[in-house]
Amino acid sequence: MRDKIVAGNWKMNGTLEEGQKLTSEIVNMIKDERVNDVKVVLSPPFIHLAGVKKLIGDVNHLFVAGQNCSDKDSGAFTGETSAKMLASFGIQYVIIGHSERREYFNETNLQLSEKVKQALANGLIPIFCCGEPLDIREENTHEDYVKSQLTESLFDLEAEDFKKLVIAYEPIWAIGTGKTASSDQAQEMHAAIRDHIAHKYGQELADDISILYGGSCKPDNAKELFAKSDVDGGLIGGASLKSRDFMDIIKSF
Ligand code: PGA
Repeated sequence: MRDKIVAGNWKMNGTLEEGQKLTSEIVNMIKDERVNDVKVVLSPPFIHLAGVKKLIGDVNHLFVAGQNCSDKDSGAFTGETSAKMLASFGIQYVIIGHSERREYFNETNLQLSEKVKQALANGLIPIFCCGEPLDIREENTHEDYVKSQLTESLFDLEAEDFKKLVIAYEPIWAIGTGKTASSDQAQEMHAAIRDHIAHKYGQELADDISILYGGSCKPDNAKELFAKSDVDGGLIGGASLKSRDFMDIIKSF
């Protein structure tokens, strides 16, 4: 049985007050409402992490993620945050390779491979993002594109490390555009990703990896997406900034 996960990626949004308000609302809803067996991950900007962690305390279902980590262990890297630091704050997950990091900060598959190793070495669960831009989808080479992202960043891991990963498939053309992939398009790619993992690491391991969908996932489409057999949850951007919408997505399982 693989984990069902709904992760909220706040990106660069929220003042101290807004972050505290959003977190408190989510904590209260999780306590008050019936939530199925879902792991809920909040991924605020770095400066919020300690505060969010403190606010959620030991409430069931709730976990915290960094949005990135350094590919280095420590040292003179101004502005960076290491996986070791995240772990020392009790953070459990870290998003690695979000398309915005790849596009605006030039993160390469090779560099992401180092970040994943830093995360794993420090006991963090990487949520590794992959996904194709629009022109690749239109050329109909999206499966190969995503498979090579996985191969280049992840396939030198030993099976015992690979099995700790969470994968997030996020077609870039669907991120923040309001244009979600159809549930069939998501299922098709998730199955292809699982198949690719199975070829390398075996079916049993592939069946245990949670694969999340991201890209304009909202309360009105989450149920249909999460009903697909290879969709194990979502990585939610915009809708994770509104507690009611985020909660409705969590309850779509
Ligand atoms: P979106 O973002 O839900 O706002 O499309 C998803 C993501 O970038 O993780």
